[in-house]
Amino acid sequence: MSDFRYSTGPTRVVFGSHTLADVRPEVERLGRTRVLVLADPGLGTVGDRVREALGALAVGRFDGAVMHTPVAVTEQALALLREVGADCVVAVGGGSTTGLAKALAVRTGVDQVILPTTYAGSEVTPVLGETDGGTKTTRSSPDILPETVIYDVELSRGLPLGITVTSAVNAMAHAVEALYAPDTNLVTDRLALEAIERIARALRRVKADPADADIRADLLTGAWLAGTCLGSVGMGLHHKLCHTLGGTYGLPHSPTHAVVLPHALAYNAPYAKEAVRRIGEALGNPDAPAAIHDLLVETGAPTSLRELGLAEADLAQAAELATAKPYPNPAPLTQEGLAGLLRAAWAGERPSLGGPPRLDWLTDQVVSTIAGPPRLRHLLGDLVRRLHGFAIDNDLTQAEWQAGIEFLTRTGQLCDDKRQEFVLLSDSLGVSSVVDALTNSRTPETTPSAVLGPFYVEGPPELEHGTDVADGLPGVPLHVEVTITSTDGSPLPGAVVDIWQSNEDGFYDVQLPDLEGPVLRGRFRADDGGRVRFWSILPSEYPIPADGTVGDMLAATGRHPYRAPHLHFMLAAEGHQRLITQLFVAGGKYLDSDAVFGVKQDLVVDFPAGTGTPPPGRRVTGEWRDLRFTFRIAPA
Ligand code: NAD
Repeated sequence: MSDFRYSTGPTRVVFGSHTLADVRPEVERLGRTRVLVLADPGLGTVGDRVREALGALAVGRFDGAVMHTPVAVTEQALALLREVGADCVVAVGGGSTTGLAKALAVRTGVDQVILPTTYAGSEVTPVLGETDGGTKTTRSSPDILPETVIYDVELSRGLPLGITVTSAVNAMAHAVEALYAPDTNLVTDRLALEAIERIARALRRVKADPADADIRADLLTGAWLAGTCLGSVGMGLHHKLCHTLGGTYGLPHSPTHAVVLPHALAYNAPYAKEAVRRIGEALGNPDAPAAIHDLLVETGAPTSLRELGLAEADLAQAAELATAKPYPNPAPLTQEGLAGLLRAAWAGERPSLGGPPRLDWLTDQVVSTIAGPPRLRHLLGDLVRRLHGFAIDNDLTQAEWQAGIEFLTRTGQLCDDKRQEFVLLSDSLGVSSVVDALTNSRTPETTPSAVLGPFYVEGPPELEHGTDVADGLPGVPLHVEVTITSTDGSPLPGAVVDIWQSNEDGFYDVQLPDLEGPVLRGRFRADDGGRVRFWSILPSEYPIPADGTVGDMLAATGRHPYRAPHLHFMLAAEGHQRLITQLFVAGGKYLDSDAVFGVKQDLVVDFPAGTGTPPPGRRVTGEWRDLRFTFRIAPA
């Protein structure tokens, strides 16, 4: 749990297409009657359209906003505002025009209605940065926060690609720093991730279709959410550096943000691992700094402070200025560290967390070659993606890959018509139980299924009821009588019941070359009452074959090879689904750590001591057990 303080901004937000038309009703809603229009000088006729929409409410116009809000420009606008007696400003333009509106509002108390045309996000923050004599100072006050923001997607459709990208990364920077802000909270956290995801998604597509309304809507929504984060929590190193570079060296605002963000993020990454991981997730690339740099390259945005006009000689002083006053930031701020960061940003290097390279293109290429029936295509494509992902996520080495190939080769070489090491591998990794659970056991009315295991042999000998399948092998005599019914309880005469089990030492007949013919396995047909009866011996716990690759794996991973004692059954009846299952001896060993994860509670049953005269089929002296069980199988 972490403590936080959070206030929701009182700004009213109007979002949509062609919402410029709402400007007059929004001003009227505020009860204002005399508007000074502040229009971005680069917007052509948009200022005229706003003025027109305001009609008689517009009493003046100022088109001279300048980046970083120089106080001298504010004073010119202030003189005009007083001259026309305005009680409201309507600003249409980027962050510079918004900045001027804020500067006027904080000096006079006039209301503000802002129509943002870039993605700076300033319109939803109570922050104002102003420059005077080469120094940029920032102040924050609720009076600075605009009353109303009208987001009109149409206004940014014509924003040139260059500004679009840098401005969108400027917004992304607010969201990025919000995620590791010391006063972060659940609300800004969610907004920030949503903003990053939307902005990254839009940036990947905007070059191909800059006027697309959906892309622009994503960017504008991202800007609003990210701006809300900026207005709510404290920013760190990235904003501080950009503030210094813009205020002291006159570098352009959003291009500076775009160049610095990947480097600031890489600098903070070792101290903000969880935030960087989530940023990477939102960007769709775990190497978040590299991903942002690559987005800049792909969209043709600047990547170096050198191309923005910063002199190499200024780097040392900039590092000094940025560390002059302490402020909260995940990574410690050292002059040496910041000098390194600035040098890399100046030179336009590609910062990286040093993780594995991006290989999506290779995965996509492989998957795109897969043709054939839809299910096959889907399964193989997904398998390829997961295998590639496994190799990439674990930074698989050549030696590990080679060891894996050799393991699988040996597993295959151990397989023949009697031994199935691959099934054993699947069993001991729990895969067989997963597939079993997906395929069977879906209805509560039927007896649960269990894995087939590697020792079933096709075509077991057909036996008479009462036969002793142990054929003289030592062990506690076990009499078994099972009934096979449908889910409604009606018996299923003629049902075919295959059974198989291990001997007293835990071996199946196929593991004992000296044994002649099948033992401890057989096929019975149910009588008119749906019953099957035979003699055998009490099964005991046993190790799965540990002399092969599966045994090597169990030993290497500290696992025992034992299976809980059980009898295998395969049941087939006309008009019914086949059931493969096992009955486990209650009280037996390893019920809670079965090596193949095959135990299900409903299949753990009593094998009680037999009483009275033993049924025919075996001569019994002394202790014997008497298992009775009813299987319910589902109609097909
Ligand atoms: P900007 O407002 O200076 O605009 C950049 C350029 O884009 C300008 O040449 C402008 O004419 C042009 N432009 C804007 N919209 C256009 C459109 N739709 N079509 C064509 N051209 C268009 O730059 P910005 O990056 O939006 O804002 C930067 C300023 O905002 C800086 O002063 C910065 O300090 C401030 N800012 C403040 C905050 C805050 O919370 N206080 C937050 C972000 C930015």
